[in-house]
Amino acid sequence: MSFQRLSLSGLKSLSSARSTFISYSQRSSITNSFRTMSTAPLDASKLKINKTASPKAKLPNEQLVFGKSFTDHMLTVDWDATTGWGAPEIKPYAGLCLDPSSIVFHYGFELFEGMKAYRDANNKLRMFRPDMNMIRMNKSAERIALPTFDSEELIKLIGKLVELDADFVPQGEGYSLYIRPTLIGTDAGLGIGTPSQAKLFVICSPVGPYYSTGFKAVTLEATNYATRAWPGGCGNRKLGANYAPCVLPQKQAASRGYQQNLWLFGPENYVTEVGSMNLFFAFKDSKTGKKELVTAPLDGTILEGITRDSILALGRERLDSNEWEVNERYLSIDEVAERALKGELLECFGSGTAAVVSPVKTIGWNGKDISVPLLEGKQYGALTKQFQEWISALQYGKEEFKNWSRVIN
Ligand SMILES: *Cc1c(COP(=O)(O)O)cnc(C)c1O
Repeated sequence: MSFQRLSLSGLKSLSSARSTFISYSQRSSITNSFRTMSTAPLDASKLKINKTASPKAKLPNEQLVFGKSFTDHMLTVDWDATTGWGAPEIKPYAGLCLDPSSIVFHYGFELFEGMKAYRDANNKLRMFRPDMNMIRMNKSAERIALPTFDSEELIKLIGKLVELDADFVPQGEGYSLYIRPTLIGTDAGLGIGTPSQAKLFVICSPVGPYYSTGFKAVTLEATNYATRAWPGGCGNRKLGANYAPCVLPQKQAASRGYQQNLWLFGPENYVTEVGSMNLFFAFKDSKTGKKELVTAPLDGTILEGITRDSILALGRERLDSNEWEVNERYLSIDEVAERALKGELLECFGSGTAAVVSPVKTIGWNGKDISVPLLEGKQYGALTKQFQEWISALQYGKEEFKNWSRVIN
């Protein structure tokens, strides 16, 4: 089927094809659990700790740059198809030694997660919805035939790593420890097949607020000359293979003055997501006065963002339902453009762990710019700011909601 011709009905028939795929993958996870019955499961109680003899100096808060400096230690766990998960190890942060023929280098057997630990006002360290990261990591692993694992065991192990490197978790609103769990296939040899060896590792980087001087609204280029993801593909999984191909279109958008691509899909030009953020729009119907918060549905063409899920849940719980509707639905860029012209577009923002929410001010489409309103003299809209405040209060433990925030120690 040509993707250019894929219509909504095409999407629907693909989605029924996908349910067949899901039942197939459920069958394969049953096979997987048979396999793990005879091999060792991931077991946090087997952890071995080898502390560094040369602790690094800690950078002052204002020198922290996202993903540039790392803590003293890393977690590694090796997996082998015949024996299962080996003993987890926390050891000094260091390079990996891999055979140049390892399948990770040739066929992209790699997946990752992005999560954070926060220091609360009582100096306790917290993680925000880590169970969701583990569910997503297992789905990514299943998609590329890498081994799955018990989520709670990896959360315990990450907790141990963060505790050991606690001095690196910066204090202050907007400051946190970015945690990068990674899983790679390590079989040596150029054959393509089911990996029989893998390495899970976790590294951590202290980070400052994404917008160190307050929100700075971004510009997007609605992109239909390249496609990030498609139904039945793997764009809904956090696989390394999904990111490298997006850098060239981003350079092209940048050459026209836009910071990020807004990925469109299909002949209807549905909006999907942005770079590494999900995307939300707020509208106000000029006839009924009713407001709507909209984001794309989880149909396989967007990443299942945890911030996205948190915004939907908070929106449904806390926005006045007489005034607001919260919807996951298909939305074309032409609908956005038309409603912006009618004055019905209220706000647009991206969502992701790095920035929580990221206000959008301009979307380039068809040679014109769609302008998104911002508050007078500000770089954000009222709803965008509201979600940022709600989520950060939960992340820093100022407020509790559905046990989303987990204290580590
Ligand atoms: C990680 C990521 C997101 C955001 O997910 P969060 O769980 O909210 O951090 C959105 N889109 C893509 C493509 C991503 O890689």
